[in-house]
Amino acid sequence: MELTSNLADVKARIERAAQKSGRKLEDIDLIAVTKTVDVDVIKEAVKLNLTKLGENKPQEIKRKSDILSKQDIDWHMIGHLQTNKVKYIIDKVSLIHSLDRLSLAKEIQKKANDNNLIVDVLVQVNVSGEESKFGLEPDKVVEFIKEVSKFDKIRIKGLMTMAPFYSEPEETRFVFRGLKKLSEQIEELKLDNVEMKYLSMGMTNDFEIAIEEGANMVRVGTGLFGERVYK
Ligand SMILES: *Cc1c(COP(=O)(O)O)cnc(C)c1O
Repeated sequence: MELTSNLADVKARIERAAQKSGRKLEDIDLIAVTKTVDVDVIKEAVKLNLTKLGENKPQEIKRKSDILSKQDIDWHMIGHLQTNKVKYIIDKVSLIHSLDRLSLAKEIQKKANDNNLIVDVLVQVNVSGEESKFGLEPDKVVEFIKEVSKFDKIRIKGLMTMAPFYSEPEETRFVFRGLKKLSEQIEELKLDNVEMKYLSMGMTNDFEIAIEEGANMVRVGTGLFGERVYK
């Protein structure tokens, strides 16, 4: 397992990019994306202090968090979330990165209320307009956040986006710059229950560009665990 050296490499890359934008390694949260990664490998990751883990399937968060219940892990829901799956993860996740519609906000509010919880979320934005990507169109985000700010069990902690895959990572820059701008506009509104604390943007292929443009949360899978093997 090359996890140790991969991690050292990813950290060095994060640090360089952070320095370019006047920040430090510690200012950037590394979310280790463990989709398709086996639990024994996850245990190794936790030993290396990778304790913020991202999954894109609710059932996997449920399954893995059960098996790994003794480990000190913060689970991040990073994928598209179907309304009827909220119940599987509501009491297991520390952050939902993919709030993108009102019906989902209503279900999170309801299940949070039933479980006596306050749930932290990021609003997912489709900055690039790429059809295959989930997320709100940028010009719908302010109105949406104003609406969700009335939900007393939901705390909006920032924004998330995915850039399209470009073979030249530099081409993603406009996406990340756009999300940062949007977060500044929202911050100025000073809405209840809304804080632009996190910008979750950047994956293995493009996280340096994202950090240079203001990301403070990156979601890295392949760069840590190698190519994903779907079984
Ligand atoms: C899979 C995934 C990632 C990680 O992608 P890599 O290219 O493997 O780093 C990040 N974010 C989301 C939403 C994902 O689904």
